Amino acid sequence: MGAEDTHVQDEVLRHSLDDPESFWAHQAEHLYWHKKPSTVLRRGEKTLKNGVTHPDWAWFPDGEISTCYNCVDRHVLAGRGDDVAIYYDSPVSNTKQKYTYRQLLEEVEALAGALRQEGVRKGDVVMLYMPMIPSALIGIFAINRLGAIHSVVFGGFAPNALAQRIDACKPVALLTASCGIEGNKPPMAYRPLVEEAISLSSHKPSRTLIWQRDVLRWGPTDRSAGQMSWQKVVRGAKARNIKADCVPVKSNDPVYIIHTSGTTGAPKGVVRDAGGYAVGLHLSISYLFNIHGPGDVMFTASDIGWVVGHSYIVYAPLLAGAATVLYEGKPVGTPDASALWRIVEEYKVNTLFTAPTALRAIKRDDTDNKFFTQIGQRGGLRTLKALFLAGERSEPTIVSMYQELLDQYGAKSAHVIDNWWSTESGSPITGRALVPHTGKYRKSEIRDHEPPVIKPGSAGKAMPGFDIRTVDDEGREVARGNMGNIVLAMPLPPTAFRTLWKEEDRFYKSYLKRFNGKWLDTGDSGWIDKDGYVHVMSRNDDVLNVSAHRLSSGGIEQAISAHPLVAESCVVGIPDALKGQLPFAFITLSTDPHPSSAIPSEQVASEIQNLVRKQVGAIASLGGIVQGKGMIPKTRSGKTLRRVLRELVENAVHGEFDKGVTVPSTVEDSAAVEVARAKVREYFQAKGGVHRALEGAVKPKL
Ligand code: AMP
Repeated sequence: MGAEDTHVQDEVLRHSLDDPESFWAHQAEHLYWHKKPSTVLRRGEKTLKNGVTHPDWAWFPDGEISTCYNCVDRHVLAGRGDDVAIYYDSPVSNTKQKYTYRQLLEEVEALAGALRQEGVRKGDVVMLYMPMIPSALIGIFAINRLGAIHSVVFGGFAPNALAQRIDACKPVALLTASCGIEGNKPPMAYRPLVEEAISLSSHKPSRTLIWQRDVLRWGPTDRSAGQMSWQKVVRGAKARNIKADCVPVKSNDPVYIIHTSGTTGAPKGVVRDAGGYAVGLHLSISYLFNIHGPGDVMFTASDIGWVVGHSYIVYAPLLAGAATVLYEGKPVGTPDASALWRIVEEYKVNTLFTAPTALRAIKRDDTDNKFFTQIGQRGGLRTLKALFLAGERSEPTIVSMYQELLDQYGAKSAHVIDNWWSTESGSPITGRALVPHTGKYRKSEIRDHEPPVIKPGSAGKAMPGFDIRTVDDEGREVARGNMGNIVLAMPLPPTAFRTLWKEEDRFYKSYLKRFNGKWLDTGDSGWIDKDGYVHVMSRNDDVLNVSAHRLSSGGIEQAISAHPLVAESCVVGIPDALKGQLPFAFITLSTDPHPSSAIPSEQVASEIQNLVRKQVGAIASLGGIVQGKGMIPKTRSGKTLRRVLRELVENAVHGEFDKGVTVPSTVEDSAAVEVARAKVREYFQAKGGVHRALEGAVKPKL
């Protein structure tokens, strides 16, 4: 690391990598341990059944902790019981509710008591299939309180997806609700989904607790199937004063299992360790997100089914003793594109965390930022210190646009911060810390106390404990500035996973085998610049191979998004006899109304093509551009399902417009796939195949 790039954040990172024991020992002091760990890090090796050996490690191995105690009880015991823990805001059910820490504790103790009565014990798995309502958080903490392990599945997932996860986790009980409400659609009854899932799964949870929502009820519970009304069970527990105390678990016992989003294959059950997670989250919420305690409000516009929801809706804000906003709604359509800004104003939010896809949706519906400006002009956004973005690459245009808006209307020196992470990492791998320092860094070595500048297009610098490298396919490190596979050196820091649920071999095969156990493969490609900023460009599967050049879909999308009329884009590789692959773009314009034709106007197409040529190079010239609204399918966590669009165009190249494509159960709106199919058909039929019209070349007849 050169002198020119030494910031406090770099020093913090160095400390965490050079002397992890002292760094994390200090971080662990912020928590209450039922048994204080005497060892911070134990390094070792694991040998698989087939004799393969790989690095293994454990954080705080002899510590014992209760996350629930740290998130709930200790704030009440410290006299902060009247502080708000949860602001629940649900435009879809017309409800707003506040829970103080004391109220939360009362609910959690009672539910935990009831679950214990129903047989839930330390180490058992309990599954949640819930909408974004307070009882979901109460459920999570109640399970945690008993030392049990939760596994949250996005409410509304298809029965086979739920069944698959039930069989993988073998929960003793299932917590669910009578319905979910997705955006402005009518309530979706969960009963048929849950009952079908349980009939499909080989493992049967013995209890199903149902939170009855007035808007659509479950109907009479089927007692023979172990169904019980959640409210009734809790009422009973309260009437008999049944409460459960916190049951601490070993630091390396799982706090939860979470399945990856499955954008690139069958979901994997990521296991999160109790101790490391609490320590690492506590660090990130204060250091990166600048949320410290009473009076601070964090709004993570995500879903509890996603890792971001686990970490920054549920656990981290409450570990800090701050308030979390639980929002049951969408960025647009409930009722309009003002929703996120309205919430910031109403709850005096300090840190907002969302996915770039939410901002793109807002931009599509509110092209000239009317809502942001209106609320900003009356001072409603003055509390907002940061807008964090993760889940996908944020194109520089979106970062810069919101940075300008925040400069005008946000808190003094408010920032837009792209941060890169994954289900596996549990917390951001890169970002830009809002707080200048943390822990016991080596002050004497700090040459520059200014925080690192923000470079739009980069996801920032490594967060403590993450040793990020870029390597070629043989695992050799590539020079800074060159594209490579982004990998992590082990041990990973405390929030990150160490294995997959009951699949040791798959952990090795999926993450370590590719580089013979030397590096952990993140599955992402990108580069690290000379100042240590990480540029995450695409998933490895989304890298295009054009005339033997590796191009990232993210880089081309970034160029396309620089066009003022483009609200959203997605680039996939399309087979090409000459070049191997050609980039093919799906675009959604922000014009109102959206053009009905799948073929963009000559002008828009050539402007986009010029942007791509100028910003990426002639090699990236697009083989086609199809336009349409509502045709880019995403996961519920906001990731573009490029694989689905790639399959559609690959099939179209062979004239197979109706051929089925594999759509993962995590899809947000499967209707988008059919819109895309129709647009692709229209495009290919009009063009007679892939066109290089803009290059003047004609594609051979397909
Ligand atoms: P998941 O495990 O479902 O959260 O997905 C993790 C993946 O999302 C990462 O491996 C990246 O491909 C992508 N991702 C998340 N955050 C970012 C970001 N800030 N920039 C680029 N890609 C991101």
